[in-house]
This record gives sequence, structure tokens and C-alpha cells, in this order.
Amino acid sequence: MSDRIQFESVIGLEIHAQLLTETKIFCGCSAKFGAQPNTHVCPVCLGLPGALPVLNKVAVEYAIRAGLSLGCTVQPVSVFARKNYFYPDLPKGYQISQYEQPLATSGCVEYQTDSEMFSVGITRVHLEEDAGKSLHEGFSDSSRSTHLDFNRSGVPLIEIVTDPDLRSGAAAADFFGRLRAILRTVGINDGNMEEGSLRCDANVSVRPVGVSTLGVKVEVKNINSFKFLRRAIEYEFKRQKNRIIKNETIKQETRLWDDAAGLTISMRTKEEAHDYRYFPEPDLLPLEISSEWVNAVQEVLPELPDDRKQRFVEQYKLTVQESNFLTQSIDLADYFEAAAKVSGKPKLASNWVMGEVSRKIKEANLNIASFVVSPESLSGLISLIDKGVINNSVAKKVFDRMCQTGDSADEIVRLEGLAQIDDVKELDAIVSVVIKSQSDAVESYRLGKKSALGFLVGQVIRETGGKANPRVVSELLRDALEQ
Ligand code: ADP
Ligand code: ZN
Ligand code: MG
Repeated sequence: MSDRIQFESVIGLEIHAQLLTETKIFCGCSAKFGAQPNTHVCPVCLGLPGALPVLNKVAVEYAIRAGLSLGCTVQPVSVFARKNYFYPDLPKGYQISQYEQPLATSGCVEYQTDSEMFSVGITRVHLEEDAGKSLHEGFSDSSRSTHLDFNRSGVPLIEIVTDPDLRSGAAAADFFGRLRAILRTVGINDGNMEEGSLRCDANVSVRPVGVSTLGVKVEVKNINSFKFLRRAIEYEFKRQKNRIIKNETIKQETRLWDDAAGLTISMRTKEEAHDYRYFPEPDLLPLEISSEWVNAVQEVLPELPDDRKQRFVEQYKLTVQESNFLTQSIDLADYFEAAAKVSGKPKLASNWVMGEVSRKIKEANLNIASFVVSPESLSGLISLIDKGVINNSVAKKVFDRMCQTGDSADEIVRLEGLAQIDDVKELDAIVSVVIKSQSDAVESYRLGKKSALGFLVGQVIRETGGKANPRVVSELLRDALEQ
């Protein structure tokens, strides 16, 4: 094959999301992250003989929420199976996971980026338990032994499998971000990728553009950042494309992303793959979910991020780009919406949230939800601008003071005498002074260089510490100069 042929990558994701339940999926142990090792354990999650699993109803409800928010059909009957493999962090010797009959199927996530519409099929959503954790570092004998922490053993997960509908690393990372926002919005996952409560495997194949059959796929395991996801896929695209061009075969295999080295490394090939010997879990009944339950969950499902984005465009007359920006996180969207409502000036609110507020948050690495300038307080500032009490440049100063002191815009403007000066007499006096001191500019204005007016307006405003109303100043100056 020649390298004049255009190639594309084809990507399907398998995402593991930890459910935000208090307790584990088959026992009453706490599911919280970060406790002392092996303090959240019992015979069930340690896999001791004779201990029986009891299904956590909240975990099921959260999985239903996930399924519905991803447009899936929730199945009336789903079945838990045993996935058998040997690994030190898996004390039972098998993981309980839904396999042939998952909880939810055939969904779809549709969304609009700044430039395109996307639609990503959701193959399935199923429930499973997490394994324990091997600790290879941090102990005096770490060079010889591995320690095990079973706190995570039995923590409830959902696995979300997408159809192979994504076509680039950037698109996959963008989709993963949207999926994360959906799961957080419906309150079932905290989106914390560093702690591993959300992670993904990327299945990547490459084919010539225009061909509809799929190429041989490679699975890149355990990716826990958007950047790694994008880079791993981009690397696989190049690697596989080069092999195809050279007529070399692609091995179906599992690989790992090494970010420091900037490449993927083979972990095991298909021949070495496990045979999991799945069979239905004899200690759990098939899971029956009534349509009443599904409907009840549907009814209380919160507004999803993309619906909110559409609504912002319509209700607040924002552009798609503005709406995309403001809905990038739930907290930012909540902040904007509160400011838009309280001030009654959505356009000004959007300008301020996208501009000064976001700049400040980013600069000082703050959390918008606990930002010292509340949306109500920002609305106070917006209303001073809207009424013409202060101009934009003074408003920026007032905003900085609000960030420092937490005081209201009203107070700052009053105490520091920052209100805009409209008073003709007061401004006229300053205009006279400026005309005397800036004789060069006055001369060139009178000789026809009209742009000199802008300079003089600037000088008057400077004399007032930025408070002069620019419109009044420029009228007064023009009058004075035309005399
Ligand atoms: P496996 O049986 O190896 O687990 P599946 O058919 O269950 O494979 O698919 C797992 C994931 O891989 C899904 O996200 C799916 O969309 C994706 N996938 C399947 N085939 C391909 C392919 N040829 N190229 C890219 N992704 C693929
Ligand atoms: Zn337990
Ligand atoms: Mg599979």
C-alpha cells in the first residue's frame, strides 16, 4: 500500500466508573477511598469460604441512572457471572460481573462541539465489583514483596462500552470528558481520575478512509487522564499505520501507555489472553428490574449537560461557543446561571464569567463553587455596570478588590469613591486643565488630526483615576476644541 492513501483510526472505549455508594456492592463494608489499608473488609469482600454476596440496591439504582442518562434500554432481567482468573488482588479467584446479559444496552450519546455534531453508540452498561489493590512501593521490604489492600475489593463499578464510533485521539478525549460530566451530573461518580474512580481502556484500529470493515484492534489498558488517552491513541494510529503501509500485520493484543517514554508497550497478545470460563453466579439470582423502578429513576434524572447547553443558547441567547465554555463543568454552569438569573443580564454575566472570573479562578487555581465572589455578589457588580454607575475599566478594579476583600461591589464603589463621574461642571474643569497642558495634541486636532481627540479623552479619564464617563468627556472636549 502506498502512503498516498489516507488512513483513519477507529476507536471504541471501555470505561470503568466507581459508583458513589456508601457501601460495597455485595457487603456492608464502606466503599470510601483513602482509609488505612484493610480496614474496610469482611468475609464477603475478602472472599472467605462460605460468605454469601447480597446485592446493594443503591448500586443497582445508580447503574440504572447511568444507563438512562446514556440513552440505553434498561433490561428487565440481567445476570451476574463469575469471571475466573488468578491474581493476588482477587481473593475469590473470580470477579463477579455481568457478562452475557448486561443491565443496559443500545444507548447513544449525541453532542455538539464548536464545529460538529457527534453521535457515539453505547453498546452496554453493566455492573461489576472492583478488585483489591497491589502495593508495590512504600514498604521497607518492597524490593522483595508486594503488599495487598482489600479496601477496594468489592467496590461497585459500572463498565460502559462504546461502539467503535470515535475517529481520533482528540475526539475520544473530548467524548470521555462529556461522559465524565454526564456521570457527575447524575450523581453516580465523582470523576476523580487520579484516585482511579474513573478510568478507561481504548480499543484502537486503523483502516484506509472509505473502507467500512474494521481493522485488527489493539487495546490500550488503564488510562487515567484525558491527555494520556489522546496521546496513546495518536501513538497507536501512527504505529499501526506504519505497519500497514509496510505490509506488516497488526497483532491483536493488549498494550500499556508509557507517558514518560511517549509510547505503548505490548502486555500480552491474543494467544496469551485469559480464558475467563464465565458461568452464571450461583449465589445471586438474576437481577429483575421493574419498569416502574426504571420510570421512577427517569423522572428524577437531572438535566443532562448537553440539554443544559442547548437551553443556555435558547434561554440566555448565548452562542454555541459561549454555551460550550460555560457548561464545561457543572459548577461553572451553576455559577453562570445563578449570576444570569440574579442580575437579569445574561450576556453581561456570560462576558464576566468567561472573562475576569475564569481568569481569576485559573490564575489562583481556585474552585468556582467556593469562589469568594459569589454569583449574587457578581450580579451586584454587573448591575452597577449596567446602570452606568461605573465603567468597564473601573469595574475590573472593583472586581479585583472584591476578590481580595470579599466585600460587595456597592460597598467598594461607595467607600473608595469609584462611582463614574458624569458631572459636567466637574469634568469641564478637568477638560480645561488638560487642554492647557496638552497643547501639542490640541494643536494637531485643530490642524485636522481628529484622532488626537481619543488621546485627550484618555488624558481626562486618567486625571479622574479612570472614573470619568467617556461619553461626557468626549462631548465636552469636542465643544471646547471647536470654540
Ligand atoms: P472484545 O471481545 O475483544 O472485548 P468487543 O467486541 O467486546 O471486543 O469490543 C470491545 C471494545 O472494542 C468496544 O468498545 C468496541 O467498540 C471496540 N472495538 C471492537 N472492535 C474494534 C475495532 N476493530 N477497532 C476499534 N475498536 C473496536
Ligand atoms: Zn466487605
Ligand atoms: Mg468485550
